[in-house]
Amino acid sequence: MDRTRRSFLGTAGLAAAGTVNAQEAAHDHEHQAVPSDPTLRVKALESLLVEKGFVDPAALDALIDRFEHKVGPRNGARVVARAWVDPAYKRRLLADAPSAIAELGFSPYQGEHMVVYENTPKVHNLVVCTLCSCYPWSLLGLPPVWYKSSAYRSRAVIDPAGVLREFGVELTDDVELRVWDSTAEVRYLILPERPVGSEHLSEEALAALVTRDSMVGTAKIAMLQTGEKA
Ligand code: FE
Repeated sequence: MDRTRRSFLGTAGLAAAGTVNAQEAAHDHEHQAVPSDPTLRVKALESLLVEKGFVDPAALDALIDRFEHKVGPRNGARVVARAWVDPAYKRRLLADAPSAIAELGFSPYQGEHMVVYENTPKVHNLVVCTLCSCYPWSLLGLPPVWYKSSAYRSRAVIDPAGVLREFGVELTDDVELRVWDSTAEVRYLILPERPVGSEHLSEEALAALVTRDSMVGTAKIAMLQTGEKA
């Protein structure tokens, strides 16, 4: 049970009101950061649903804990590393991602209709959800804020090369850029290119190189410099 989150439910509204009163009283102090409007709305809705007995707060906490602490990009990284070291697994992953992902024991939750595309020296795939924020939760955890932003959602399809440049990925003219628009029905995971110079690494060490953004297609993977810890 997340005490902080739960107690926040009761105090968020008071905090917002208290800040207004405090502002009226004096201005020579640090203002309290008021949660964003959507956050307050979500909390208000949640507290109403709990109050009316429609949802169990313990179940909500368990769900949030799962996605904040147990599910995350490390799961996706394990899938990628396995595909790098095992060509047969990679073929299965590209042909039938949900089954191949289940082989590694990951929950199919939100991943029932997952498709994996491979980035190569000639093809770069980028994932977006133009409608909202559909994302392969079971393998990458919660989507980053930028993935949900309207700027990314619109510009990833209007100017994908420009967006990639801002993420530090420069594609040469001979690379075909493909953008995949996620939906509630189909979610995408990108199999990034295995970095040059990683031939000697174990599957575990390879997994440590794989970043969240590389599995969305907004980053490439580089070998860590000598001295850095994998
Ligand atoms: Fe969406």
